[in-house]
Amino acid sequence: MQVRFWGVRGSVASSGSHVAKLGGNTSCLELTHDGHRLIFDAGTGLRALGETLPTPVDTTLFFSHLHWDHVQGFPFFAPAFRPDTHLRLYGPGVDGARHLRDALARQMSPPHFPVPLSAMRARMDFADALPGRAVETGPFRVTPFELPHPQGCLGYLVEAGDARVAYCTDVELTHERLPSEVGRLLAGVDALVLDAQYTRDEYEGRVGPSKVGWGHSTNLDAAHIARAVGARRLFLFHHDPARTDAQVEDMAEEARAIFPASEPARENKRVMLG
Ligand SMILES: [Zn+2]
Ligand SMILES: [Zn+2]
Repeated sequence: MQVRFWGVRGSVASSGSHVAKLGGNTSCLELTHDGHRLIFDAGTGLRALGETLPTPVDTTLFFSHLHWDHVQGFPFFAPAFRPDTHLRLYGPGVDGARHLRDALARQMSPPHFPVPLSAMRARMDFADALPGRAVETGPFRVTPFELPHPQGCLGYLVEAGDARVAYCTDVELTHERLPSEVGRLLAGVDALVLDAQYTRDEYEGRVGPSKVGWGHSTNLDAAHIARAVGARRLFLFHHDPARTDAQVEDMAEEARAIFPASEPARENKRVMLG
């Protein structure tokens, strides 16, 4: 299985020389195996991903949640405008299909956007992603699970061939408060993509307001969790939009003191697993 990062930034996209190395687009991940493809989240990274897909496009998108940094790329996903495209879209939770369709339609309506969702000619099949209910698609088995985040968020465990990847963006976890079900699912994953937006000083309010309850983890807690669950590699994810490349590298260095196989997720990075 190959993982490719298309957007690694959190909250809002960022541009400029300070993010040139790691990238400024918001959450979007592509997983490929045996010629099949899954996409996780439709942050602004989705636009460039859409330009690379061979036609006709037939793919499945899973949404962690519907906060704007995870859906804003969808209006710019060019394959969705083609009638020969087939998309399966999994919205999080009970009634996730309806909530996802509504959210995508709302952001493509006045006063936000000039082109409606109905202008997208692709066949779109919406479905619910339900915690604990695995979805089999192509060679992939995808298991959604609940993560602590304001308004909720789903993590996804993806298994294909002999590789296992966990995508856990937008989650406020500490290693002391790791839900046992989450710990069980993450056990021994080959790659753990985990929210690490804040430093410990930011989280605890020594720099700016306390971030407790804002729904994100620290680089140190991410490293402790990776160690606790026996992950093979940790990718720090959902970088703060104001964070410079050098600052993210420093956070990864701190994480490596706890879990040596830690690195920042970087736009366009490809990782082969299994
Ligand atoms: Zn986010
Ligand atoms: Zn969020």
